[in-house]
Amino acid sequence: MVDYPMFIDGQWCAAASGQTYEAINPATGEAFAKVPLGSREDAQRAIAAANRAWESWSQVPLWERADLCLRMAEILEQRADELADMLCTELGKPRHSEAALEAKNFVPLFYRQAAELARYQEGDAFLGRDSHKRLVNFRRPRGVVTVITPWNFPAMIPSEYLPYAIVMGNTVTWTPAPTAAVTAVTLLRFLEEAGLPPGVINLVTGPGPEVGDEFITNPGTHAIAMTGSSATGKIISSRCGLKPRLMELGGNGPCVVLPDADPEKAAQAIAPACFFAAGQVCSAAERIFVADNLKQNFVDALVAETENWIQGDVWDPNVNMGPQNNPGVVEKITSHLQDAVSKGARVVAGGKRPDLPGFYYQPTVLVDFDLESLVNREETFGPIAPVRSYSSDEEAWQGIRSCNLGLVSALFTQDVDRAWTWAERLRTGIVVVNDQTNYWEPHVPFGGMAGTISGIGRLGGRHTLEFMSDLQTIAFHVNGTD
Ligand code: NAD
Repeated sequence: MVDYPMFIDGQWCAAASGQTYEAINPATGEAFAKVPLGSREDAQRAIAAANRAWESWSQVPLWERADLCLRMAEILEQRADELADMLCTELGKPRHSEAALEAKNFVPLFYRQAAELARYQEGDAFLGRDSHKRLVNFRRPRGVVTVITPWNFPAMIPSEYLPYAIVMGNTVTWTPAPTAAVTAVTLLRFLEEAGLPPGVINLVTGPGPEVGDEFITNPGTHAIAMTGSSATGKIISSRCGLKPRLMELGGNGPCVVLPDADPEKAAQAIAPACFFAAGQVCSAAERIFVADNLKQNFVDALVAETENWIQGDVWDPNVNMGPQNNPGVVEKITSHLQDAVSKGARVVAGGKRPDLPGFYYQPTVLVDFDLESLVNREETFGPIAPVRSYSSDEEAWQGIRSCNLGLVSALFTQDVDRAWTWAERLRTGIVVVNDQTNYWEPHVPFGGMAGTISGIGRLGGRHTLEFMSDLQTIAFHVNGTD
């Protein structure tokens, strides 16, 4: 059992109370490390350190801040294998198909992207009705940004925020999901190696309702960047007052297979969106509406796809599907499935836990779910592919609109006109045509549509830089006129 610290004011430290909790490997169900159980007191120390550091960090030239992010990217590239090992140990991510992808292909990229985009950002200059004024817009740091992250991509999601925050001259107080804290420590150790000045990023591990709540309510933090469930997003929104916030929340990705689509190709595209990361992806395909004429072929092809998802020892290169993160996720999947079956759905593949240690759940296909069932109304966050057929566009729309999540949807058709018409009517931040809902790239704006409970604002590339800064307009009075 290794003891891991947290990081405040450039010091690796224990919680003020000295208390710890156990980190559990979800692939075995066994404890492998101890993590500090931070409290409000630790959060307050982190906020004070971030405010002290902000005085000097915000004065460091932009080019130097970008240099730091580039050094971070280099170190993360060199240490990617160690980070991948930790993703495998702490989260049970299959080492080859998932952990390596996150640690190598994605994490370093964010630090490079933040540096480059920040260096070459452009502002605008304009004139007013008052002909003596010269008006210029600049982006200024917000101050201390609180970053709150979930467990499902515990190295990548923090990296979607941290370099963008610091390159824009902010300092950070960060709390990760308690079941992803060791990965957070591992990541931050690598960032520190790049020469991170004390107090610029502060990490406090512990329960969100205590550490996170102190971060969002304390007047010493000035903006909130959070990824997590819609339920937590609502609590944070009700507690944070007028602080600006970027919130990346839950999804329930509807997929629509129109009557002219190829059912086999659609099933092959949709399957990874149901089963990759054991379905624990905000953009996962969680409800699938298939035209009546394609239903049987589509379901047969989707059931055949489940054979490609191999569960077992996550260090084995042949294994591409790991466990759920914690017993609570397994309980939610089980209750959603029971609820759907009690309302008339049929399980045609999977539908139970495999004979493995830890928190695994089989890839599962469910057909004929009722619109009232929880798999349709809520986010399940598990490897469940619920299918329902429809006989008219109106019936499909009724199904799609019976859930108020609006993150990512996918549409399958060969008809360009129909694709545009459907895409523009779908109330999700991203609509993917003829590919899976998990399509995503780091500079593509990502977020929930207004009127849904999937989030506020857009994350990704320049959108993140914009959130991490305030627009300041300088109105300069000159004696001449234009
Ligand atoms: P969660 O909401 O339980 O926790 C997210 C974070 O919020 C954690 O760090 C937690 O400690 C903290 N938190 C919890 N209660 C808090 C409170 N009262 N005040 C302040 N902070 C608090 O989510 P999770 O289970 O860790 O992650 C899964 C969820 O994240 C899913 O709903 C998933 O869809 C969502 N997610 C969304 C995106 C996206 O980009 N939209 C990406 C990944 C995950």
